[in-house]
Amino acid sequence: MTLEEAKRRVNELRDLIRYHNYRYYVLDAPEISDAEYDRLLRELEELEARFPELQSPDSPTQQVGAKPLEATFRPVRHPTRMYSLDNAFSLEELRAFEERVERALGRKGPFAYTVEHKVDGLSVNLYYEEGVLVYGATRGDGETGEEVTQNLLTIPTIPRRLTGVPGRLEVRGEVYLPLEAFFRLNEELEEKGERIFKNPRNAAAGSLRQKDPRITAQRGLRATFYALGLGLEEAGPKTQYDLLLWLREKGFPVEHGFARAEGVEGVEAVYQDWLERRRQLPYEADGVVVKLDELALWRELGYTARAPRFAIAYKFPAEEKETRLLEVVFQVGRTGRITPVGLLEPVLLEGSEVSRVTLHNESYLEELDLRVGDWVLVHKAGGVIPEVLRVLKERRTGEERPIRWPERCPECGFRLVQEGKVHRCPNPLCPAKRFEAIRHYASRKAMDIQGLGEKLIEKLLEKGLVRDVADLYRLRKEDLVGLERMGEKSAQNLLQQIEASKHRGLERLLYALGLPGVGEVLARNLAGRFGTMDRLLGASLEELLEVEEVGELTARAILETLQDPQFRHLVERLKAAGVEMEAKERGEEALKGLTFVLTGELSRPREEVKALLRRLGAKVTDSVSRKTSFLVVGENPGSKLEKARALGVPTLDEAGLYRLIEERTGNKPEALLA
Ligand code: AMP
Ligand code: ZN
Repeated sequence: MTLEEAKRRVNELRDLIRYHNYRYYVLDAPEISDAEYDRLLRELEELEARFPELQSPDSPTQQVGAKPLEATFRPVRHPTRMYSLDNAFSLEELRAFEERVERALGRKGPFAYTVEHKVDGLSVNLYYEEGVLVYGATRGDGETGEEVTQNLLTIPTIPRRLTGVPGRLEVRGEVYLPLEAFFRLNEELEEKGERIFKNPRNAAAGSLRQKDPRITAQRGLRATFYALGLGLEEAGPKTQYDLLLWLREKGFPVEHGFARAEGVEGVEAVYQDWLERRRQLPYEADGVVVKLDELALWRELGYTARAPRFAIAYKFPAEEKETRLLEVVFQVGRTGRITPVGLLEPVLLEGSEVSRVTLHNESYLEELDLRVGDWVLVHKAGGVIPEVLRVLKERRTGEERPIRWPERCPECGFRLVQEGKVHRCPNPLCPAKRFEAIRHYASRKAMDIQGLGEKLIEKLLEKGLVRDVADLYRLRKEDLVGLERMGEKSAQNLLQQIEASKHRGLERLLYALGLPGVGEVLARNLAGRFGTMDRLLGASLEELLEVEEVGELTARAILETLQDPQFRHLVERLKAAGVEMEAKERGEEALKGLTFVLTGELSRPREEVKALLRRLGAKVTDSVSRKTSFLVVGENPGSKLEKARALGVPTLDEAGLYRLIEERTGNKPEALLA
């Protein structure tokens, strides 16, 4: 390659990378995969290394992220710069990293390292003065980020007050969306015909950068912390490992997993171990971050323009394969929504054969600009679910056909209706909906009828024993015994489960009935607003529109269903069977699983607060232990605070507690106490 050629390619790459930075960091809507992006950056780095005369301080290889879109959030200059990380994609590259370290230090390894999961979220910087949180900001381009304090404060584990910390302190970590929340969010977006998020990282960024913090709160973001900016010298810890323990002790969530390792071999062992267990993580991790453990070495090594020299991201393999889209078939979901499913020429992806891939909804298809016969790039989203990353348009021959939506339901032949970008089968007795309706009704977050699995539902439908969910309450033991190898005992158990499901309350019932657009959140809001099924059945469009999170389209669809005679008939039969139609006391289980300890003076009597916590399903105990979820700290706190800090138990001030309650119940504590 001549210098001229290299120059042309370098310019081309820089343009491309800047464009993709913008899509990724500013719009939260990447067009290419992370691996493709990494390849572009790698190519540019290599060219710049081979032709040093082409290096330039404004090359993307020298920069972090992208400048935030101004106007949405206040820009803040970070007191100390935030960096990106260099990547290693193989053991050789990890060794090369250690060799660079050895050369720079003029000393032979092996060194001690701390290995951490590289959580795929977005990094944030919390700035504290005299232990009080002043603001929180995104990384932005490393120098200037966006102030997102209000949104960050929807994450209940972020401490607002610290004790025993340097006067000026920057704490850094990752805000992320757990995989479960990510898939749930996309399902909701899919259902509404909206654009889905490409990956958990973009979903987290999109959620954190919402104008309305209430939306952020509903997304279920979490945070985990791993670094200090200002204050690192004074804080005390001498190693990264101790720094993580220090952060935990100060009340920060450190939930991303970390381990100490000796030398490259030790790191490799941790890496292999974590790689194997990667699928069990509740969050997406795209690799591990390897940091020299001794902070003293960090000072010696310093930073490049873009990244520290004392740390590297050792990436997990991310398989991407090219294959062809052979056909698109259409499935009917439990709400009657039609989902396109792509049939692929089978490919092996991360150990399993992939031949089907969901194509989500019309917005998604339009964005991809997908045609039957196209070559596509596929991977596993969140490491689990096969997904088309993009269409390889350069391989088109002209033979590709546009995707045509069916006019009739593939299951029952009813003419489909279209609401915006959502295609739906309107037949309430569509068999596709019947199975899904029962399965959904029995699912854990709905009526939680354990033992009513898919096979059994199929059998019950096949034998004509149930046609809809109300029929479940008419099942007798004789009907069940013998089905799916069911014995007396399990038939008895199932009947008990069905009986118990009568008492789940209105919010669960509304969710279970699969009203259009009604997920868990909406079901809770509707139940909270109307209190009883009868009142909901009498609701007007205006009243529905007043419910939080309900938009015009959803309100109309809900109203239509509520007024549908078949739906009303079903409700009548459920009522006759004894299914409860009232909302549970608001948020009865909102704090279930959490244990609180109170210390110091609160603005209302302690007993009252305790009673409220208990009413919301929480446990309240007298002394702090590792099992304590939160210590609530009032004025003049006692020794419990010290103990909580020592054990790494997160603390909440009174306002923080009320905010948590409000988030979980959708109600102000005043309303609950009244
Ligand atoms: P990149 O996204 O390629 O710029 O990689 C650097 C980013 O990795 C940092 O800015 C952090 O947001 C993120 N990261 C995730 N987990 C960690 C961790 N344990 N330590 C350091 N950085 C992390
Ligand atoms: Zn149908």
